[in-house]
Amino acid sequence: DNPEIAILKDYHREAAELYHHILVNTQLGEEALEYLHHRGLTDELIAEFQIGYAPANKLLLPFFDEHQPDYQKLRKSGLFVERQDGQLSDRFRSRVMFPIRNAAGQVIAFSGRLLQKNDQQPKYLNSPETEIFNKRDVLFNFDKAKNSVRTEKSLVLFEGFMDVLAAYRAGVKNGVASMGTSLTEQQVYTLARVSKNVSLCYDGDEPGQKATKRALELLAATGRFNLSVISLPEKLDPDEYVGKYGAEKFVTHVHDSLESELAFYLRYYQQGRNLDNENDQLAYIEDVLKKIAQSNDAIERDLYLNRLAQRFQLDKLTLENQLKELRATGA
Ligand code: ATP
Ligand code: MN
Ligand code: MN
Ligand code: MN
Repeated sequence: DNPEIAILKDYHREAAELYHHILVNTQLGEEALEYLHHRGLTDELIAEFQIGYAPANKLLLPFFDEHQPDYQKLRKSGLFVERQDGQLSDRFRSRVMFPIRNAAGQVIAFSGRLLQKNDQQPKYLNSPETEIFNKRDVLFNFDKAKNSVRTEKSLVLFEGFMDVLAAYRAGVKNGVASMGTSLTEQQVYTLARVSKNVSLCYDGDEPGQKATKRALELLAATGRFNLSVISLPEKLDPDEYVGKYGAEKFVTHVHDSLESELAFYLRYYQQGRNLDNENDQLAYIEDVLKKIAQSNDAIERDLYLNRLAQRFQLDKLTLENQLKELRATGA
């Protein structure tokens, strides 16, 4: 690393240590610690991920002040906001702090969660883009997950940090999450470097299902993955699922309820449609056929074509011709 990068990383390492210390050893962190315990995080997990707490009052600035910092670099670190008068002030206040690490395990940013939702502030606040943090490149827990790929032979994508942590605690240690944005090309490229098998386990609610579709399209476009979907019932997210049904059931679900890409689309395109209505039926069949046409597996295409023919009592030959046309035009 060049000296500037090294210093920015030093600041982040020190900040992570300080936030963690505040959470686990001081009265300032009591409420936040209770909150995390209540959400099922153990002390062991909190230590392993170096989760911390940024108290309501200034903490980082007075700490750095004592160590003759380079204020120009503090300004660039993203850990502070600059007030009108040019003075620096802690960016993160009253938030549970999740250190974000690069693939080498170095802290390069934070995401901070409010203890209670309120209308004035976002639930999660991320570090801004800096010389060491480009949120489009980063996957939370990638540094640890990449080592579990060898044993698990796959990687699981989650939506949120708490989902990654709940899964980790349950024993699913190969989970990562993007930084509160949809999956990016850069992240896909990072995934491709470590695993061919990727499962998507996003929230069971509608935004989660939409995000699943977008991520599948992005991942499938590379032609480099075996993709599957783990969908959760009752609009639950993985963290809520573990809370409601327990870790064991979650692990079983992750291993045994893998849906193929096509099975996901069969379900997805049903949403908001009444399949007893002829127009809805036609639109559904067209959507599904397009997806079947994109499959490069002849047996899979045949399997789903049969299902479609049976379900809607259609002539298979007609479907096959339609499919041929779609494949020829690449629609
Ligand atoms: P929690 O369980 O702590 O409430 P969550 O992960 O279930 O959080 P979601 O609302 O499902 O939260 O959002 C998924 C992810 O999107 C979060 O983990 C976070 O990374 C990101 N996110 C959510 N709300 C915001 C926000 N207001 N600003 C930035 N990112 C956000
Ligand atoms: Mn959600
Ligand atoms: Mn969620
Ligand atoms: Mn959640």
